[in-house]
Amino acid sequence: MSQLPLVAIVGRPNVGKSSLFNRLVGGRRAIVDEEAGLTRDRLYGKVDWRGRDFNVVDTAGLDAQAAQLERRRDDAMRAELAENTQRGTMMAVEEADVIIFVVDVRAGLTAADEDVARTLRRSKIPVVLAANKSESPKDPGYLHEMYSLGFGEPLPVSALQGSNTGDLLDRVVELLPPAEDVEALDPGRVSVCILGRPNVGKSSLLNAILGRERSLVAALPGTTRDPVDTEVMVGEQPIILVDTAGIRRKGVTKGGIEHYTLLRAFRALERADVALMVIDAAEGIRAQDQHIAGYATEAGKGVALVVNKWDLLPAEDRDDAAWRTRISKDFQFIPGLPVVYASALSGRHVKDVLPMALQVAEARNRRISTGELNRTVREAVASFPPPLRKSRQLKVLYATQGRERTPTIIFFVNDPELAHFSYRRYLENRIREVHGFAGVPLRILFRSRDEDD
Ligand code: GDP
Repeated sequence: MSQLPLVAIVGRPNVGKSSLFNRLVGGRRAIVDEEAGLTRDRLYGKVDWRGRDFNVVDTAGLDAQAAQLERRRDDAMRAELAENTQRGTMMAVEEADVIIFVVDVRAGLTAADEDVARTLRRSKIPVVLAANKSESPKDPGYLHEMYSLGFGEPLPVSALQGSNTGDLLDRVVELLPPAEDVEALDPGRVSVCILGRPNVGKSSLLNAILGRERSLVAALPGTTRDPVDTEVMVGEQPIILVDTAGIRRKGVTKGGIEHYTLLRAFRALERADVALMVIDAAEGIRAQDQHIAGYATEAGKGVALVVNKWDLLPAEDRDDAAWRTRISKDFQFIPGLPVVYASALSGRHVKDVLPMALQVAEARNRRISTGELNRTVREAVASFPPPLRKSRQLKVLYATQGRERTPTIIFFVNDPELAHFSYRRYLENRIREVHGFAGVPLRILFRSRDEDD
């Protein structure tokens, strides 16, 4: 499976990287799902421009998130280090296919811009120079200075107003590597990526799994000693463990900062059907765990949870029921999240981890016939009819499952405006109860359709 190209937005602080990112990726800066108690910054997103798909990463966001992560370890000095943009630049340079180098035309060139430029020149990765904050065509600011950076003609843009961002994307697309054919999706092959904060035991769990199962090195790029992906047989079922090299590679190689791991995990996620989310039982559920799982569902992936290091818990805390309650609350954005309480160290329940991931993959591939689906919907509507809104009532004409890879249910109704959030939730829950989908994000859409159609 090929991976989408990556475009990194790089520059010194305060030049407007995050605003530009938002412009290009669209949508709001922060992802807020208050019901799920989930707020975080978006820093990675997909762009489709003139038929080319690619991912964009905001290195400022990456820095902020890494800093937050480091702070949780109560290590102020490392947090400060993480805020150093140079590290974001280095990391982006390693992974990116094209770089958007952002400078500020109103401030003019600074020594920090030149530092970034030096790093970029050494990398030999194609660079598009974006001269941001060019709000007024009459006032070019310090545009002329930007030529000296050695990346050709700077393109004046305004992330604030959105001006020239189309031209910017045109230049980016020209520099992307040629599009590869994305391998046809093979429903017989399930791919799983292991996600989680540093030190929760991802690498140990991987080794424990590989020690148990028959594993083959998948014929994918990488070396035999450090395969990018590994194929494991669970019974007769092949499972691709995505980016095993990334799981083993320690973030500490980059001066103790986890940027690299974080970015690499996002990219691995893209190629996976299911994310195996690993948390540390002794540390409990942290906000960062919720964030990472949030990325996975948002990307439309199935999620299964491994509560690792179970051996470290005192006997009185080894209480599945209490954990289950906490998990349902803290991960309520993933209804029915399946869980295994495991220990990579002792081998406890390690054998259950991949079968759990397989179940989620199956649920994600499930296709419900229109007949079955409409029986469920009719019963749901009959037992709890939609409440009146402004003296009008929602009428569900019929529902059908779309053909998308992420399960999508489309309701055809008299007027989508009448489908209140809580009623949508109700219908979703009914469908989940009857048809499964534990750990799988469901997209629910409402379309209008004339009643006499
Ligand atoms: P990663 O950064 O998530 O890949 O975490 P590692 O696999 O490197 O593990 C981090 C530390 O936790 C190492 O010292 C491991 O030996 C330890 N560890 C991993 N799994 C377990 C476990 O199940 N129980 C205990 N007690 N320690 C574990």
